[in-house]
Amino acid sequence: MSDFNILVAGKSGAGKQPRIDALIEMYGLSQLSTGNIFRFYLKLLDGINGLPSREAIWDSAENWFIEDDKIAAMIEPLLAGHDVAVNDAVLALKVQYFVLQGLFVPDQITNELFYAAFAKKGFKGCVLDGYPRTVQQCDFLLDTVKKAGTEIAFILLVDAEDDNIIKRLTGRRICSDPNCAKVYHLQYNPPKDGRFCTVCGAEVLQRGDDTEEKIIKRLQEFRDKAKPAVDYLVSKGLKLAVVPGNLPKFSPEAVLESVKEGIAAAGIKV
Ligand SMILES: [Zn+2]
Repeated sequence: MSDFNILVAGKSGAGKQPRIDALIEMYGLSQLSTGNIFRFYLKLLDGINGLPSREAIWDSAENWFIEDDKIAAMIEPLLAGHDVAVNDAVLALKVQYFVLQGLFVPDQITNELFYAAFAKKGFKGCVLDGYPRTVQQCDFLLDTVKKAGTEIAFILLVDAEDDNIIKRLTGRRICSDPNCAKVYHLQYNPPKDGRFCTVCGAEVLQRGDDTEEKIIKRLQEFRDKAKPAVDYLVSKGLKLAVVPGNLPKFSPEAVLESVKEGIAAAGIKV
C-alpha cells in the first residue's frame, strides 16, 4: 500500500468518481469518501435499543456534548451482541444529534468522524473525497498527516464549466427498476421514446437531486466552501494538478490518460 494520500476536489457533477477510480488503479489506493463515512455512522446504531436521549448526552451549560467516557458508559451495555465498537457508537450518537435535528454538522464532529475512518486506514493509501471542506478541516487534515508521518501527495482538481454540468445532470435519467438502474441522457444516450429503459422497459426517472435548482445550489456551495479550501491548501504548499471534467471521448482509458497528463503537467512525481 502507498504511504501517501491524494485529495480529489471538484464541483458536484464534474466527474470526480472516474478520476478517483483512475487514481485507485494507478497507485493502489482506496477511496475514503465523507459521504460514505456519514452514511456508515448514521446507520451504525440501527437496531440498538434504549439509546440515551439527546438531552442525556448534551451539556446545555457548556453547549456541547458531555465527556466521551460518560457517553460510552451509557451505551456500552446496549452494544452486547452487536458488532459495534464503543468509540464508533459514541461518534454515531454525536453525528445523529445534529443530523436528526436537521442541523449543520459542526467541523469538530466532521473532523472526528473523518479521523476515526482515516485512522482505520493507517492515515495513508487513501483518495480523500468530500473532505476537507472548510479551512478548519484543512488545518485538521494537515495536522493529522503531519503527526502520522504520512502526507498528501497532491490535490487533483476536476475542472468543469457550470453550463456543462447543468446540461449533463438535468438531462440525466435513471431506470426506475432498482435491479437495472441503467443511466441515460435525454440528448447523448436517450431512453426509448424518451421515457423507457432500452434494457428492461421500465420507465426512466429524473433523480430528485438532478433538478436545475439543486444543481445550482451545489455549484454555489463549491464556490463558497470547497474551492476556498483547495486554495488554502495550495497556499500551505500542497501541489495541485488540474484535469478536465469533459473529455472529447469518454472512456476509462481516456480518463486514465488525462489524469496522468494532468499530474505530469503539474510537475508532480509520485
Ligand atoms: Zn432498466
